[in-house]
Amino acid sequence: MAPTGSGSSEWSRERIEQTARSICDPPAVWALLEQAAAPETGQVRDILHRAREMKGLPAEDAAALIAVADEDLRQEIRDSARRVRETAFGRRISLCAPVCPTNRCINDCLYCPLRRSNSRVRRSAYTDRDLQREIVSLLDEGHRHLVLVFGDDRSGVPYVRDMVGAAYGVRSGLRQVQRVDINVDALRLDELRLLQQSGPLGTYHVFQETYDPQSYAALHPEGPKADYDRRLTCHDRALEAGVVDLGLGLLLGCHDWRFDVIALLQHSRYLSDIHGQRAHSFTLQRMVPAPGAPASREPERRLADEDFAHIVAVVRLASPYTDIVLSTPASSEVRRLLVGVGVSRVVVGSKSYPGVYTGDGDPEAAGHLTIDRPRALERLVYRMAEVGFVPNLCAACYVQRRRAPVVEGIISPQVATDRCAPNALLALKEYVMDYASSETQTVVGRLIQGELARLPEDVRQLTLELMEEAEAGLRGQML
Ligand code: SF4
Repeated sequence: MAPTGSGSSEWSRERIEQTARSICDPPAVWALLEQAAAPETGQVRDILHRAREMKGLPAEDAAALIAVADEDLRQEIRDSARRVRETAFGRRISLCAPVCPTNRCINDCLYCPLRRSNSRVRRSAYTDRDLQREIVSLLDEGHRHLVLVFGDDRSGVPYVRDMVGAAYGVRSGLRQVQRVDINVDALRLDELRLLQQSGPLGTYHVFQETYDPQSYAALHPEGPKADYDRRLTCHDRALEAGVVDLGLGLLLGCHDWRFDVIALLQHSRYLSDIHGQRAHSFTLQRMVPAPGAPASREPERRLADEDFAHIVAVVRLASPYTDIVLSTPASSEVRRLLVGVGVSRVVVGSKSYPGVYTGDGDPEAAGHLTIDRPRALERLVYRMAEVGFVPNLCAACYVQRRRAPVVEGIISPQVATDRCAPNALLALKEYVMDYASSETQTVVGRLIQGELARLPEDVRQLTLELMEEAEAGLRGQML
């Protein structure tokens, strides 16, 4: 690799290309998949046994699992994934809300309705004041964690920085946002440094969509995003700039999903091996049909529910502590299946457009992204609690600036039990007291009692004390 001096504002082309080759070697990924095709039942069970030890799996084992087509064996994979998910995350599902400050974009991704050549979308971009109004609506609904979703708006990084700063600055009474992630294009080194130095930042999400260079080129014909190598290397630049909380992601349907899943896992392994820093999250989206987005309407790109569940289960086994994020719409039944086998975070109201929360937005600004207001948070909390999942609104690690174990994906079972579990219950307790109807309070109250009983005695006592203080009016209780 040809290093660029640390004072340089951007990587050389040579460095970008060499780094990209280190991250993903497509013939090697295919070779792995071919070697792993048609694994024996005994081999699969042996891999599952090792996966349940919570140390993750090497790419060759993940490739063997991803190749399994037999439904009975897939069920065994899902059962193991459920156990791993419960050990790492309990029954918790983190919730966050998307906000789209702008729907302007200079790229032309063929699966996306916001692509620049879709003239049916009305374009707009928030001012600080617009953003504040939208966020007040979210705070008043009980959200604490937001993800700001930017297209490739040429307003540039100062606009992203200003929107993040404005989001953290919004108050509604005593309420304020605790974590702001960004989903933005592949930035230059100097842009990342600017963001890193500008104040608190949650996860920097950049999705490769597909790791196959040919499919990538076909789906991204124009704009800066057409540069596969530049996008693939942006997490390396982020780490060099000091941005350590990183999200990877796939758009399933762009290419053969077996290939993309293995390439994604190898990308995370590369970050760990080279930089000592794993990805914090994997966002697994599937392509959904949208007007003005021709690729999204091709039937062969549809991913079946059962394959989606298989992918989530294999990724959970391969990377037990990495957040798996669901951000595309799914029926309640499918969502429950995905959450059961591995999804640990759900983007609430996964369809969004500027002005959706205040009610004065223009649905035509969304392309396909929505024609409905997103689900009310309370409805989702109620439904999750009813079936025994713990809706998690906690962002304690971000508030207390102790993100290292979280972003490195090395939360120990002890931290999960002694901190994550009680903090989720405390945040949920505060949420229902402040926002929920008596019906939701009853359902959630039962859930909290059951979950408290699973905590170690000393942690339970401490949690109960903090809950009593919350009942007396204190807020922001956390361990
Ligand atoms: Fe723009 Fe993102 Fe849509 Fe591509 S996927 S057209 S970059 S908003």
